[in-house]
Amino acid sequence: MRTDVNTLGEFGLIEHLTRDFPLLQPSSLKGVGDDAAVIDNGAFCTVVSTDMLVEGIHFDLAYVPIKHLGYKAVVVNLSDIYAMNAFPRQITVSIAISNRYSVEALDDLYAGIRAACEAYGVDLVGGDTTSSPKGMVISITAIGQGEKELLTYRNGARVGDLICITGDLGAAYLGLQLLEREKQLWQENPGIQPDLEDQKYAVGRQLKPEARRDMIETFRKVGLKPTAMIDISDGLASEIFHICKQSKVGALVEESGIPMHPEAELLALKFKLDPATCALNGGEDYELLFTIDPADVEKVKYLPEIYIAGEILDANDGIKLNTKGGNLHDLKAQGWVHF
Ligand code: ADP
Ligand code: MG
Repeated sequence: MRTDVNTLGEFGLIEHLTRDFPLLQPSSLKGVGDDAAVIDNGAFCTVVSTDMLVEGIHFDLAYVPIKHLGYKAVVVNLSDIYAMNAFPRQITVSIAISNRYSVEALDDLYAGIRAACEAYGVDLVGGDTTSSPKGMVISITAIGQGEKELLTYRNGARVGDLICITGDLGAAYLGLQLLEREKQLWQENPGIQPDLEDQKYAVGRQLKPEARRDMIETFRKVGLKPTAMIDISDGLASEIFHICKQSKVGALVEESGIPMHPEAELLALKFKLDPATCALNGGEDYELLFTIDPADVEKVKYLPEIYIAGEILDANDGIKLNTKGGNLHDLKAQGWVHF
């Protein structure tokens, strides 16, 4: 019998493959299923996360400058460490490259990796280099550190907690739509120059995302420990589902509470897309979704770039979206499937 991997989807496949790996080491505090694994080292824990980027699937060098690719490849990994309420310290970088890539191109890739290391204060400490029959694959592992009692997991949300979102959502997805459209126009008509000028914000969010180190620092400053946290890499809806599934709770999300940048909203309308759908099902925002005890609301209420967008409900209440028009829908996590 042969089962197509599409029948399981990405998360189903991960669950299927990892189901028979009980954690035997007492130091393995958290295994598969969160933004990063957690290893107990006494008062401090080591936090580890890996991501792989594949040319043609996750990036297209037709419109992504290779230096930006290096920067982004690091940032997406650091984002998973911050999502644990921990700080990244080191990275390893592994690449598989075809003979299409010159030393100069790889120098540019590493210039981007270096810029991210400098910006976030992490050290490049190793990796692996090998050849690929076609295209490039970049795999980065980020290693971080956090106090055991401050780490935040996906499974800590409780009924009555408030749902918070940092920054704004949807712009990176819309930036990608724009770049894809310009690429297509250019392919049909190589003479024309891409027109991205008035969409700087969305394009910047796609090409040069940042991880929310500032938020993790703010949490320490104001003495806030979220009850649960995840980074928003696959769209808000998918991340809400992860938190609800792991915390065994439901949720009510207010569409009017989902933060969007005005440029992203306008761009969505230009593309005839519903702005909220872009925020819910786009991706690559690398913002944080977290839940807080309502007793902590004063700690976040006046902080810039933190928005309260809903409440955690009992699991029996399901996962609902209250639309701007006042309709209550079941929230659907379309996410994206990469197979
Ligand atoms: P994120 O979107 O935060 O990077 P993923 O959705 O990639 O997280 O992964 C979810 C969880 O599954 C993580 O704990 C990750 O380490 C684990 N995981 C993903 N792929 C595999 C695999 N092939 N084998 C073991 N664990 C995996
Ligand atoms: Mg994550």
